[in-house]
Amino acid sequence: MTTTPTQAVHWDLHYDIHLGATWSRFMDGLRDRKILANVCPSCDRVFVPPQAYCESCFERTDRWVELPPEGSLEVFTVAWHGFRGGPTPPYAIGGIRLDGASTLLMHWVIGLDFTEPTTLLAQLPAGSRVRAVWAPQRTGQILDIAHFEPDRD
Ligand SMILES: [Zn+2]
Repeated sequence: MTTTPTQAVHWDLHYDIHLGATWSRFMDGLRDRKILANVCPSCDRVFVPPQAYCESCFERTDRWVELPPEGSLEVFTVAWHGFRGGPTPPYAIGGIRLDGASTLLMHWVIGLDFTEPTTLLAQLPAGSRVRAVWAPQRTGQILDIAHFEPDRD
């Protein structure tokens, strides 16, 4: 039996991303506590995060709508191991379908009790209602939504 060799790798990256017009508008909206999506003029799919073009129709998506900060949690995964600069595990990342959206927005989800992992799916089953919690200080970036939490009202 052979062993798989490993090699230590160190990444320490700092880089700037050019947002472009579509994502800039989305981020500007977040700063103002607005979740903006755009709509394909051909198939009427609603994209959040927004896309410059519909990948199905190849149409420019230049009509904008504001979505509510609530939606359904369709899927989530739990990170049990952290990484440098990241949040302290365990934590959950969910795919949230905001009301009116055709796509999922990936974001942090809080409100899970991680002490008994076999209960996680029962705690937040697919379709659970969640709502965005805004960061107190917003700067026009995705973490202007601090996280999503269960909407148990
Ligand atoms: Zn389309």
